[in-house]
Amino acid sequence: MTRFKAVFFDVDGTLYRSREYEENLLESAVAVVAEILNIGRSEAFRRLMALKREVKTVSRSVEMMGINRSKFYDRLAEVASPEKFIRPSPAVAEMLRNIRRRGVVVGLHTNSGRRLALKVLSCLGVDEECYDFMVSSDDAEPKPDLAGYVVLLSKAGVKAFESLYVGDRCDVEIAPAKKLGMQTALVHSEACVYADFFLKDVIEVERLI
Ligand SMILES: [Mg+2]
Repeated sequence: MTRFKAVFFDVDGTLYRSREYEENLLESAVAVVAEILNIGRSEAFRRLMALKREVKTVSRSVEMMGINRSKFYDRLAEVASPEKFIRPSPAVAEMLRNIRRRGVVVGLHTNSGRRLALKVLSCLGVDEECYDFMVSSDDAEPKPDLAGYVVLLSKAGVKAFESLYVGDRCDVEIAPAKKLGMQTALVHSEACVYADFFLKDVIEVERLI
């Protein structure tokens, strides 16, 4: 018997960490905003940062600028270069496969668009054998909205209390999961009142199952 029937993983900042890719992603997001709104990059940077401080996520920030979320992420998938910064992680891929082998459903949950998320996962070496399904911002309102979490539960066919949510951001990712009654694990940080477990590395999840 396992403790959980399903485990849901955030992707960026949780399955991998890369300061360089984060910078590349931000630069790319600014370039895409500038292109779509037909403004300069410094103006796009200023607007994006100001909104992100207020609403916490890039997804919500671009929508508040009147940009269609799918259009933004589709273009971002062309402009960003995860392959330059994200290396394969056999340990993470193995951990995910092991969890599935034990009969536990593995779902991925990202605020990114599907195309970009698949690009990132392929750099990591996380293929379709590593997870059952992914919920991206093409499928549901992005985090911290509860909609994506509800989709995770219904796709996995489990109750919230039977699941574990693993993420790296307390207010944006862990808090909504806890609100629904999921058990929660925060990686790479120890400051979060909504987290039941604190992990130094995501591969430690296997020990919680
Ligand atoms: Mg994250």
